[in-house]
Amino acid sequence: MSHDGLSQLEFDQQHLWHPYTNVAKPGPTFVVKESEGVHITLDDGTRLIDAMSSWWCMMHGHRNPSITQAIHDQLDTLPHVMFGGLTHDPAIDLGRKLLAITPDSLTRIFYCDSGSVSVEVAMKMAVQYQHALGHPGRSEFATVRSGYHGDTWKAMSVCDPDTGMHHLFQGALSVQHFVSRPPIRLQEDWIDDPTRNGLDELRRVLDAGRDKIAAFILEPVVQGTGGMYFYHPEYLNQARALCDERGILLIFDEIATGFGRTGHMFATGFCEVEPDIICLGKGLTGGHISFACTITNDRVANGIGGGEPGIFMHGPTYMANPLACAAAKASLDLLTAQYWQSRIAAIAAQMEAELAPARSLPNVADVRVLGAIGVIEMKHRVSADEAHALAPEMGVFLRPFGHNIYTMPPFITTPDQLSQITAGMLRLAREL
Ligand SMILES: *Cc1c(COP(=O)(O)O)cnc(C)c1O
Repeated sequence: MSHDGLSQLEFDQQHLWHPYTNVAKPGPTFVVKESEGVHITLDDGTRLIDAMSSWWCMMHGHRNPSITQAIHDQLDTLPHVMFGGLTHDPAIDLGRKLLAITPDSLTRIFYCDSGSVSVEVAMKMAVQYQHALGHPGRSEFATVRSGYHGDTWKAMSVCDPDTGMHHLFQGALSVQHFVSRPPIRLQEDWIDDPTRNGLDELRRVLDAGRDKIAAFILEPVVQGTGGMYFYHPEYLNQARALCDERGILLIFDEIATGFGRTGHMFATGFCEVEPDIICLGKGLTGGHISFACTITNDRVANGIGGGEPGIFMHGPTYMANPLACAAAKASLDLLTAQYWQSRIAAIAAQMEAELAPARSLPNVADVRVLGAIGVIEMKHRVSADEAHALAPEMGVFLRPFGHNIYTMPPFITTPDQLSQITAGMLRLAREL
């Protein structure tokens, strides 16, 4: 059937599915023609600041010249080759870079396609590790409420049961072991009383599931999609000990927090401990192409290798895609050049100052900033569609979710551009 009679936008609205939308009632949608730096340009020429870094990944800005050049160069020599039995410089060079910046105990990298897949891989590693150690019954997971780990089945099973709509998928989702989100906030003083810092509850859940739990998985320090909530890293230090005492692995999902967003290269940098497995994605290629990886330590890798069947049962078609590896390496080169640390400190200070007036608005519950993450938490839910409708007028593209109006600006955002973003956020807080 020909659809030539439809405009581009009409075709889109009638035939293309968008994330988390009702196809029968699509919200305002803009056709983007090009992007550069912090800007996306619409088909009518309107330029919007991408205050979301395109779902948190475009940290050096759109169309970064060194990343696009790296992809161009790679395209001319080796766009793709299977990774079974074959390897290549882009994968190896990226691996060297990653191991230089990730926690020292992490040594074995598994490249995969997207964040959700990297979480699947991490969970599979944990189950295979326990199996290899003679604990085949340990195939379940403990996690904290308000988490988000992706949209595939196993990842979804450890997302918050309410916002992840577990009731809808009941029967199809594995039942996991949930504890409250870590109650002590990042900015608060740590309280050593386990009944108040969440660790008593964690201990009870880990004990009750002792023979069933393979690993404890959570986002370190910053819960992203589950509410932009920042919690105290001491929770993680002590959780590490509780897991160790019970032979339970610790998985950090750093897909949102990785690569400088919080002011540390990784949120693990807030902690005194290291996880057994880490998941990286989103900003890995500076937002230029889908890519992710799961990195584990020798203990887990050798444990799996020493058991039955020994091989690790995962291998995506596009594993270690050279274009993605080249983009990721170029992005990491920019990060290791260090420009981001002073930029993020400046972005944080400016957001603190400019978002502060929101505290006195009647519908605002909280305002918080960490690194290049700025949040106005409202007392009510905020509509993403209504925010999108205001985007052309504000010159800023924001996509609130739940109660939160937030920004994760590109690290290259200038002070003037950041002021435009914070003004847009204040306007949404007043009007939506
Ligand atoms: C976005 C995200 C994921 C899922 O990544 P996708 O690339 O969207 O599959 C997993 N965990 C966290 C913490 C995330 O923010």
